[in-house]
Amino acid sequence: MPLSPREDPLVHRAVVIDDEFLICAQIEDVLRERGIETRTAADDVALPALVDDFAPQVIFLDIRLGRSDAFEIMRKSMLSRYEGIVCLLSGSPLDFLLDASAIGSELGLWMGPALKKPVEEADILDALHAVDLMLASRSLARERRQAGGDVAARSRLTVRDGLQQGRLEVWYQPTFTLATQALTGAEALVRGRTEEGAIVGPGELFTGATQQDLLDLTAFVLPKAIADSRTLADGGTPLKLSVNVPTSFLAEADPAAFVRDVSGERWWPGMILEVTEDEALANLKAVAQVALQLKLYAVELSIDDFGAGYSSLARLRDLPFAELKLDRSFVHGCASDSTKLAICKSVLTLGAELGCTTVAEGIEDEEDLRLVTEIGCDKVQGFRFARPMPFSDLLAMLSPAGDAAAESR
Ligand code: C2E
Ligand code: MG
Ligand code: MG
Repeated sequence: MPLSPREDPLVHRAVVIDDEFLICAQIEDVLRERGIETRTAADDVALPALVDDFAPQVIFLDIRLGRSDAFEIMRKSMLSRYEGIVCLLSGSPLDFLLDASAIGSELGLWMGPALKKPVEEADILDALHAVDLMLASRSLARERRQAGGDVAARSRLTVRDGLQQGRLEVWYQPTFTLATQALTGAEALVRGRTEEGAIVGPGELFTGATQQDLLDLTAFVLPKAIADSRTLADGGTPLKLSVNVPTSFLAEADPAAFVRDVSGERWWPGMILEVTEDEALANLKAVAQVALQLKLYAVELSIDDFGAGYSSLARLRDLPFAELKLDRSFVHGCASDSTKLAICKSVLTLGAELGCTTVAEGIEDEEDLRLVTEIGCDKVQGFRFARPMPFSDLLAMLSPAGDAAAESR
Protein backbone atom coordinates (compact mmCIF):
# COMPACT_ATOMS: atom_id res chain seq x y z
CA MET A 1 0.00 0.00 0.00
CA PRO A 2 1.61 3.33 -0.97
CA LEU A 3 2.07 5.59 2.03
CA SER A 4 3.49 9.06 1.82
CA PRO A 5 5.72 10.25 4.66
CA ARG A 6 4.32 12.98 6.88
CA GLU A 7 6.15 16.28 6.93
CA ASP A 8 5.95 16.49 10.71
CA PRO A 9 6.55 12.93 11.98
CA LEU A 10 4.87 11.94 15.22
CA VAL A 11 7.40 9.28 16.18
CA HIS A 12 10.15 10.84 18.32
CA ARG A 13 11.09 7.97 20.62
CA ALA A 14 11.43 4.28 19.78
CA VAL A 15 12.51 1.11 21.55
CA VAL A 16 14.02 -1.91 19.78
CA ILE A 17 14.05 -5.24 21.61
CA ASP A 18 15.97 -8.00 19.88
CA ASP A 19 18.50 -10.51 21.14
CA GLU A 20 20.41 -10.14 17.86
CA PHE A 21 22.72 -7.21 18.43
CA LEU A 22 23.11 -6.54 14.70
CA ILE A 23 19.36 -6.13 14.17
CA CYS A 24 19.14 -3.69 17.08
CA ALA A 25 22.06 -1.71 15.67
CA GLN A 26 20.65 -1.68 12.14
CA ILE A 27 17.20 -0.42 13.17
CA GLU A 28 18.70 2.03 15.63
CA ASP A 29 20.91 3.52 12.87
CA VAL A 30 17.95 4.07 10.55
CA LEU A 31 15.81 5.60 13.32
CA ARG A 32 18.55 7.85 14.69
CA GLU A 33 19.28 9.14 11.20
CA ARG A 34 15.69 10.39 11.19
CA GLY A 35 16.15 12.13 14.52
CA ILE A 36 14.27 9.47 16.48
CA GLU A 37 15.69 8.92 19.95
CA THR A 38 16.14 5.16 20.27
CA ARG A 39 16.79 2.72 23.12
CA THR A 40 17.70 -0.88 22.45
CA ALA A 41 17.66 -3.99 24.65
CA ALA A 42 18.35 -7.69 24.22
CA ASP A 43 15.44 -8.73 26.43
CA ASP A 44 12.30 -7.32 28.02
CA VAL A 45 13.69 -6.84 31.53
CA ALA A 46 13.91 -3.07 31.18
CA LEU A 47 10.70 -2.74 29.16
CA PRO A 48 8.34 -1.64 31.99
CA ALA A 49 10.69 1.17 32.99
CA LEU A 50 11.19 2.15 29.35
CA VAL A 51 7.44 2.28 28.71
CA ASP A 52 6.84 4.42 31.82
CA ASP A 53 9.85 6.74 31.76
CA PHE A 54 10.93 6.93 28.12
CA ALA A 55 7.38 6.73 26.68
CA PRO A 56 8.25 5.46 23.21
CA GLN A 57 5.65 5.96 20.46
CA VAL A 58 6.72 2.67 18.89
CA ILE A 59 8.30 -0.58 20.11
CA PHE A 60 9.96 -2.93 17.62
CA LEU A 61 9.71 -6.31 19.32
CA ASP A 62 11.46 -9.49 18.22
CA ILE A 63 9.10 -12.46 18.47
CA ARG A 64 11.69 -14.91 19.77
CA LEU A 65 13.98 -13.68 22.50
CA GLY A 66 16.47 -15.77 24.46
CA ARG A 67 14.45 -16.29 27.65
CA SER A 68 11.08 -15.04 26.56
CA ASP A 69 8.99 -14.34 23.48
CA ALA A 70 6.67 -11.65 22.14
CA PHE A 71 3.53 -13.64 23.03
CA GLU A 72 4.50 -13.74 26.69
CA ILE A 73 5.51 -10.10 26.68
CA MET A 74 2.32 -8.95 24.96
CA ARG A 75 0.24 -10.83 27.51
CA LYS A 76 2.04 -9.22 30.44
CA SER A 77 0.29 -6.37 32.13
CA MET A 78 3.20 -4.01 31.48
CA LEU A 79 2.15 -3.75 27.87
CA SER A 80 -1.57 -3.75 28.55
CA ARG A 81 -1.39 -0.07 29.47
CA TYR A 82 0.96 0.80 26.59
CA GLU A 83 -0.74 3.19 24.21
CA GLY A 84 1.96 3.33 21.53
CA ILE A 85 2.37 1.02 18.54
CA VAL A 86 4.02 -2.41 18.61
CA CYS A 87 5.75 -3.73 15.46
CA LEU A 88 6.79 -7.37 15.61
CA LEU A 89 10.06 -8.58 14.10
CA SER A 90 10.85 -12.11 13.07
CA GLY A 91 12.53 -14.37 10.56
CA SER A 92 9.40 -16.59 10.63
CA PRO A 93 7.10 -16.73 7.58
CA LEU A 94 4.93 -13.66 7.00
CA ASP A 95 1.71 -15.56 7.83
CA PHE A 96 3.07 -16.36 11.26
CA LEU A 97 4.00 -12.72 11.79
CA LEU A 98 0.50 -11.58 10.76
CA ASP A 99 -1.14 -14.13 13.07
CA ALA A 100 1.10 -13.02 15.93
CA SER A 101 0.14 -9.38 15.23
CA ALA A 102 -3.52 -10.37 15.22
CA ILE A 103 -3.06 -11.89 18.69
CA GLY A 104 -1.50 -8.62 19.82
CA SER A 105 -4.61 -6.77 18.55
CA GLU A 106 -6.86 -9.21 20.38
CA LEU A 107 -4.93 -8.48 23.55
CA GLY A 108 -5.79 -4.82 23.05
CA LEU A 109 -2.44 -3.62 21.72
CA TRP A 110 -2.05 -1.26 18.79
CA MET A 111 -0.16 -3.41 16.30
CA GLY A 112 1.79 -1.74 13.52
CA PRO A 113 3.23 -3.45 10.43
CA ALA A 114 5.26 -6.57 11.20
CA LEU A 115 8.83 -6.69 9.87
CA LYS A 116 10.20 -9.85 8.34
CA LYS A 117 13.93 -10.47 8.81
CA PRO A 118 16.28 -9.85 7.13
CA VAL A 119 15.07 -6.31 7.45
CA GLU A 120 15.85 -3.78 4.74
CA GLU A 121 16.12 -0.05 5.39
CA ALA A 122 13.07 0.50 3.14
CA ASP A 123 11.00 -1.87 5.34
CA ILE A 124 11.87 0.14 8.43
CA LEU A 125 10.97 3.41 6.69
CA ASP A 126 7.66 1.99 5.41
CA ALA A 127 6.83 0.78 8.91
CA LEU A 128 7.66 4.21 10.33
CA HIS A 129 5.37 5.94 7.83
CA ALA A 130 2.55 3.54 8.66
CA VAL A 131 3.08 4.04 12.41
CA ASP A 132 2.99 7.80 11.85
CA LEU A 133 -0.34 7.54 10.04
CA MET A 134 -1.74 5.29 12.76
CA LEU A 135 -0.79 7.81 15.44
CA ALA A 136 -2.19 10.68 13.40
CA SER A 137 -5.45 8.89 12.62
CA ARG A 138 -5.86 7.98 16.27
CA SER A 139 -5.43 11.51 17.49
CA LEU A 140 -7.92 12.77 14.89
CA ALA A 141 -10.44 10.14 15.95
CA ARG A 142 -9.89 11.06 19.61
CA GLU A 143 -10.51 14.73 18.88
CA ARG A 144 -13.74 13.75 17.19
CA ARG A 145 -14.86 11.60 20.10
CA GLN A 146 -14.04 14.36 22.59
CA ALA A 147 -16.09 16.81 20.55
CA GLY A 148 -18.99 14.33 20.72
CA GLY A 149 -18.47 13.96 24.46
CA ASP A 150 -18.90 17.69 25.06
CA VAL A 151 -22.30 17.59 23.41
CA ALA A 152 -23.15 14.53 25.45
CA ALA A 153 -22.52 16.43 28.67
CA ARG A 154 -25.75 18.37 28.16
CA SER A 155 -27.90 15.34 27.38
CA ARG A 156 -31.61 15.70 27.94
CA LEU A 157 -32.99 12.52 26.40
CA THR A 158 -31.47 9.06 26.59
CA VAL A 159 -32.12 6.11 24.30
CA ARG A 160 -33.85 4.28 27.12
CA ASP A 161 -36.19 7.18 27.92
CA GLY A 162 -36.70 7.82 24.21
CA LEU A 163 -37.74 4.21 23.64
CA GLN A 164 -40.00 4.12 26.67
CA GLN A 165 -41.67 7.45 25.90
CA GLY A 166 -41.99 6.87 22.15
CA ARG A 167 -39.73 9.86 21.46
CA LEU A 168 -37.41 8.22 18.94
CA GLU A 169 -37.59 8.68 15.17
CA VAL A 170 -35.63 7.18 12.31
CA TRP A 171 -34.18 9.82 9.99
CA TYR A 172 -32.26 9.18 6.80
CA GLN A 173 -29.21 10.64 5.12
CA PRO A 174 -28.94 9.83 1.42
CA THR A 175 -25.79 8.48 -0.21
CA PHE A 176 -24.86 9.25 -3.81
CA THR A 177 -22.85 7.53 -6.51
CA LEU A 178 -19.80 9.71 -7.05
CA ALA A 179 -19.62 9.22 -10.81
CA THR A 180 -23.22 10.24 -11.58
CA GLN A 181 -24.18 12.00 -8.32
CA ALA A 182 -27.37 9.91 -8.39
CA LEU A 183 -29.04 9.06 -5.07
CA THR A 184 -28.31 5.37 -4.48
CA GLY A 185 -29.09 4.67 -0.86
CA ALA A 186 -29.79 6.18 2.54
CA GLU A 187 -28.46 5.61 6.05
CA ALA A 188 -30.93 5.34 8.93
CA LEU A 189 -29.89 7.61 11.81
CA VAL A 190 -31.78 7.74 15.08
CA ARG A 191 -33.14 11.03 16.38
CA GLY A 192 -34.99 11.86 19.59
CA ARG A 193 -37.64 14.54 19.94
CA THR A 194 -37.69 16.23 23.35
CA GLU A 195 -40.84 17.44 25.07
CA GLU A 196 -40.11 20.95 23.77
CA GLY A 197 -39.83 19.57 20.24
CA ALA A 198 -36.03 19.85 19.98
CA ILE A 199 -34.26 17.20 17.87
CA VAL A 200 -31.57 15.25 19.70
CA GLY A 201 -28.85 13.21 17.92
CA PRO A 202 -26.93 10.11 18.98
CA GLY A 203 -24.25 12.21 20.71
CA GLU A 204 -26.80 13.01 23.42
CA LEU A 205 -29.04 9.95 23.16
CA PHE A 206 -26.22 7.45 23.63
CA THR A 207 -24.82 9.02 26.80
CA GLY A 208 -24.58 6.27 29.39
CA ALA A 209 -26.34 3.80 27.07
CA THR A 210 -25.77 0.14 27.92
CA GLN A 211 -25.27 -2.67 25.40
CA GLN A 212 -28.85 -3.69 26.12
CA ASP A 213 -30.09 -0.18 25.30
CA LEU A 214 -28.32 -0.36 21.94
CA LEU A 215 -29.82 -3.79 21.27
CA ASP A 216 -33.27 -2.47 22.14
CA LEU A 217 -32.65 0.51 19.87
CA THR A 218 -31.79 -1.83 17.00
CA ALA A 219 -34.99 -3.75 17.64
CA PHE A 220 -36.78 -0.43 17.14
CA VAL A 221 -34.80 0.99 14.19
CA LEU A 222 -34.45 -2.13 12.05
CA PRO A 223 -38.19 -2.96 11.68
CA LYS A 224 -38.91 0.73 11.05
CA ALA A 225 -36.24 0.81 8.31
CA ILE A 226 -37.69 -2.37 6.79
CA ALA A 227 -41.16 -0.79 6.79
CA ASP A 228 -39.78 2.42 5.24
CA SER A 229 -37.97 0.36 2.63
CA ARG A 230 -41.29 -1.20 1.70
CA THR A 231 -42.98 2.20 1.46
CA LEU A 232 -40.22 3.36 -0.90
CA ALA A 233 -40.51 0.24 -3.04
CA ASP A 234 -44.30 0.52 -3.15
CA GLY A 235 -43.89 4.13 -4.29
CA GLY A 236 -41.74 2.99 -7.20
CA THR A 237 -38.43 4.21 -5.74
CA PRO A 238 -36.81 1.15 -4.16
CA LEU A 239 -33.70 1.99 -2.21
CA LYS A 240 -31.23 -0.13 -0.32
CA LEU A 241 -31.21 1.34 3.20
CA SER A 242 -28.36 1.12 5.69
CA VAL A 243 -28.82 0.59 9.42
CA ASN A 244 -26.18 1.06 12.13
CA VAL A 245 -26.04 -1.90 14.49
CA PRO A 246 -23.85 -2.70 17.49
CA THR A 247 -21.69 -5.80 16.99
CA SER A 248 -23.48 -7.45 19.90
CA PHE A 249 -26.56 -7.45 17.68
CA LEU A 250 -24.72 -9.55 15.10
CA ALA A 251 -22.94 -11.73 17.62
CA GLU A 252 -25.69 -12.35 20.18
CA ALA A 253 -29.07 -11.50 18.70
CA ASP A 254 -30.56 -13.28 15.68
CA PRO A 255 -30.32 -10.66 12.91
CA ALA A 256 -31.55 -13.05 10.22
CA ALA A 257 -34.88 -13.32 12.06
CA PHE A 258 -35.61 -9.66 11.26
CA VAL A 259 -35.23 -10.06 7.50
CA ARG A 260 -35.99 -13.71 6.78
CA ASP A 261 -39.64 -13.16 5.91
CA VAL A 262 -39.36 -9.96 3.89
CA SER A 263 -36.34 -11.17 1.96
CA GLY A 264 -38.53 -13.61 0.06
CA GLU A 265 -40.83 -10.84 -1.14
CA ARG A 266 -40.52 -9.32 -4.59
CA TRP A 267 -40.12 -5.73 -3.41
CA TRP A 268 -37.13 -6.45 -1.11
CA PRO A 269 -34.12 -4.46 -2.37
CA GLY A 270 -31.81 -5.81 0.33
CA MET A 271 -30.25 -3.90 3.18
CA ILE A 272 -26.86 -2.89 4.55
CA LEU A 273 -25.92 -3.28 8.20
CA GLU A 274 -23.13 -0.98 9.36
CA VAL A 275 -20.76 -2.00 12.13
CA THR A 276 -17.89 0.16 13.29
CA GLU A 277 -14.40 -0.97 12.42
CA ASP A 278 -13.12 -1.32 15.98
CA GLU A 279 -16.13 -3.36 17.09
CA ALA A 280 -15.99 -5.60 14.02
CA LEU A 281 -12.33 -6.37 14.58
CA ALA A 282 -12.88 -7.18 18.21
CA ASN A 283 -15.50 -9.78 17.22
CA LEU A 284 -14.05 -10.96 13.95
CA LYS A 285 -15.22 -14.58 14.03
CA ALA A 286 -18.80 -13.93 15.08
CA VAL A 287 -19.19 -11.07 12.61
CA ALA A 288 -17.73 -13.13 9.76
CA GLN A 289 -20.16 -15.98 10.43
CA VAL A 290 -23.24 -13.77 10.56
CA ALA A 291 -22.10 -11.83 7.48
CA LEU A 292 -22.12 -15.04 5.51
CA GLN A 293 -25.53 -16.07 6.85
CA LEU A 294 -27.04 -12.66 6.06
CA LYS A 295 -26.00 -12.93 2.43
CA LEU A 296 -28.84 -15.44 2.12
CA TYR A 297 -31.26 -12.58 2.71
CA ALA A 298 -29.53 -9.96 0.53
CA VAL A 299 -28.20 -8.21 3.61
CA GLU A 300 -24.66 -6.94 3.33
CA LEU A 301 -22.20 -5.76 5.89
CA SER A 302 -20.49 -2.37 5.87
CA ILE A 303 -17.50 -1.37 7.96
CA ASP A 304 -18.27 2.07 9.36
CA ASP A 305 -15.93 4.81 10.57
CA PHE A 306 -13.09 3.15 8.75
CA GLY A 307 -9.61 4.53 9.30
CA ALA A 308 -9.67 5.03 13.05
CA GLY A 309 -8.50 1.48 13.82
CA TYR A 310 -5.77 1.59 11.22
CA SER A 311 -3.66 -0.99 13.03
CA SER A 312 -5.39 -4.13 11.96
CA LEU A 313 -5.99 -3.74 8.25
CA ALA A 314 -4.57 -7.17 7.51
CA ARG A 315 -7.27 -8.82 9.61
CA LEU A 316 -10.06 -7.23 7.60
CA ARG A 317 -9.20 -9.54 4.77
CA ASP A 318 -10.91 -12.29 6.77
CA LEU A 319 -14.18 -10.40 6.93
CA PRO A 320 -16.73 -10.84 4.12
CA PHE A 321 -17.96 -7.25 4.06
CA ALA A 322 -19.27 -5.50 0.97
CA GLU A 323 -18.71 -1.85 1.81
CA LEU A 324 -16.15 0.26 3.56
CA LYS A 325 -17.08 3.71 4.89
CA LEU A 326 -14.22 6.09 5.32
CA ASP A 327 -14.56 7.96 8.61
CA ARG A 328 -15.59 11.57 8.13
CA SER A 329 -12.79 12.88 10.34
CA PHE A 330 -10.39 11.94 7.53
CA VAL A 331 -12.58 13.10 4.66
CA HIS A 332 -13.59 16.62 5.63
CA GLY A 333 -10.59 18.88 5.20
CA CYS A 334 -8.47 16.29 3.38
CA ALA A 335 -7.70 18.85 0.64
CA SER A 336 -5.55 20.87 3.01
CA ASP A 337 -4.22 18.16 5.31
CA SER A 338 -1.60 15.78 3.96
CA THR A 339 -2.13 13.29 6.80
CA LYS A 340 -5.86 13.01 6.18
CA LEU A 341 -5.21 12.71 2.47
CA ALA A 342 -2.66 9.93 2.95
CA ILE A 343 -5.12 8.04 5.16
CA CYS A 344 -7.96 8.46 2.62
CA LYS A 345 -5.74 7.28 -0.23
CA SER A 346 -4.48 4.20 1.55
CA VAL A 347 -7.95 3.21 2.74
CA LEU A 348 -9.38 3.61 -0.76
CA THR A 349 -6.52 1.53 -2.15
CA LEU A 350 -7.31 -1.17 0.38
CA GLY A 351 -11.02 -1.04 -0.52
CA ALA A 352 -10.19 -1.51 -4.18
CA GLU A 353 -7.83 -4.38 -3.36
CA LEU A 354 -10.52 -6.12 -1.32
CA GLY A 355 -13.10 -5.52 -4.04
CA CYS A 356 -15.63 -3.71 -1.87
CA THR A 357 -17.60 -0.52 -2.40
CA THR A 358 -16.00 2.52 -0.80
CA VAL A 359 -18.01 5.37 0.69
CA ALA A 360 -16.55 8.71 1.74
CA GLU A 361 -18.56 10.17 4.64
CA GLY A 362 -18.51 13.79 5.73
CA ILE A 363 -18.22 15.53 2.36
CA GLU A 364 -19.02 19.02 3.56
CA ASP A 365 -17.80 21.30 0.79
CA GLU A 366 -16.56 21.54 -2.79
CA GLU A 367 -12.94 21.04 -1.76
CA ASP A 368 -13.75 17.72 -0.03
CA LEU A 369 -15.67 16.63 -3.10
CA ARG A 370 -12.90 17.68 -5.50
CA LEU A 371 -10.30 15.72 -3.56
CA VAL A 372 -12.44 12.61 -3.16
CA THR A 373 -13.23 12.73 -6.88
CA GLU A 374 -9.51 12.99 -7.61
CA ILE A 375 -8.52 10.00 -5.48
CA GLY A 376 -11.66 8.07 -6.45
CA CYS A 377 -14.26 6.30 -4.36
CA ASP A 378 -17.63 4.78 -5.26
CA LYS A 379 -20.12 6.62 -3.11
CA VAL A 380 -20.31 9.86 -1.17
CA GLN A 381 -22.33 11.05 1.81
CA GLY A 382 -22.27 14.38 3.57
CA PHE A 383 -23.80 17.78 4.19
CA ARG A 384 -22.61 18.93 0.72
CA PHE A 385 -25.29 16.63 -0.73
CA ALA A 386 -27.94 16.22 1.95
CA ARG A 387 -28.27 16.33 5.71
CA PRO A 388 -30.10 13.63 7.69
CA MET A 389 -33.85 14.19 7.22
CA PRO A 390 -37.18 12.73 8.37
CA PHE A 391 -38.47 9.86 6.22
CA SER A 392 -41.22 12.08 4.77
CA ASP A 393 -38.54 14.43 3.37
CA LEU A 394 -36.66 11.51 1.82
CA LEU A 395 -39.87 10.36 0.17
CA ALA A 396 -40.46 13.86 -1.18
CA MET A 397 -36.89 14.05 -2.45
CA LEU A 398 -37.36 10.80 -4.34
CA SER A 399 -40.65 11.81 -5.92
CA PRO A 400 -40.43 13.15 -9.51
CA ALA A 401 -40.78 16.75 -8.22
CA GLY A 402 -38.00 16.03 -5.75
CA ASP A 403 -35.79 14.80 -8.59
CA ALA A 404 -36.23 18.11 -10.35
CA ALA A 405 -35.22 19.94 -7.19
CA ALA A 406 -32.17 17.72 -6.85
CA GLU A 407 -31.13 18.46 -10.42
CA SER A 408 -31.19 22.17 -9.79
CA ARG A 409 -28.96 21.69 -6.71
P1 C2E B 1 -22.27 7.17 11.45
O1 C2E B 1 -22.91 5.85 11.25
O2 C2E B 1 -20.86 7.34 11.01
O3 C2E B 1 -23.23 8.23 10.77
C1 C2E B 1 -22.79 9.34 10.09
C2 C2E B 1 -22.81 10.53 10.99
O4 C2E B 1 -22.15 11.60 10.33
C3 C2E B 1 -24.20 11.04 11.29
O5 C2E B 1 -24.17 11.60 12.58
C4 C2E B 1 -24.37 12.15 10.27
O6 C2E B 1 -25.32 13.11 10.66
C5 C2E B 1 -22.99 12.72 10.26
N1 C2E B 1 -22.65 13.39 9.03
C6 C2E B 1 -23.01 13.05 7.79
N2 C2E B 1 -22.50 13.88 6.87
C7 C2E B 1 -21.78 14.80 7.57
C8 C2E B 1 -21.00 15.93 7.19
O7 C2E B 1 -20.85 16.28 6.02
N3 C2E B 1 -20.39 16.62 8.19
C9 C2E B 1 -20.54 16.28 9.50
N4 C2E B 1 -19.92 17.01 10.41
N5 C2E B 1 -21.26 15.21 9.90
C10 C2E B 1 -21.87 14.48 8.93
P2 C2E B 1 -25.24 11.23 13.69
O8 C2E B 1 -26.59 11.08 13.08
O9 C2E B 1 -25.04 12.21 14.79
O10 C2E B 1 -24.81 9.79 14.12
C11 C2E B 1 -23.63 9.59 14.84
C12 C2E B 1 -23.37 8.13 15.01
O11 C2E B 1 -24.33 7.51 15.87
C13 C2E B 1 -23.48 7.37 13.70
O12 C2E B 1 -22.29 7.56 13.00
C14 C2E B 1 -23.70 5.95 14.18
O13 C2E B 1 -22.48 5.34 14.53
C15 C2E B 1 -24.50 6.17 15.44
N6 C2E B 1 -25.91 5.90 15.18
C16 C2E B 1 -26.84 6.69 14.58
N7 C2E B 1 -28.02 6.06 14.53
C17 C2E B 1 -27.86 4.84 15.10
C18 C2E B 1 -28.72 3.73 15.35
O14 C2E B 1 -29.89 3.70 15.02
N8 C2E B 1 -28.16 2.65 15.98
C19 C2E B 1 -26.85 2.61 16.34
N9 C2E B 1 -26.38 1.50 16.94
N10 C2E B 1 -26.01 3.64 16.11
C20 C2E B 1 -26.52 4.74 15.50
MG1 MG C 1 -23.03 4.58 9.87
MG1 MG D 1 -19.45 6.54 9.91
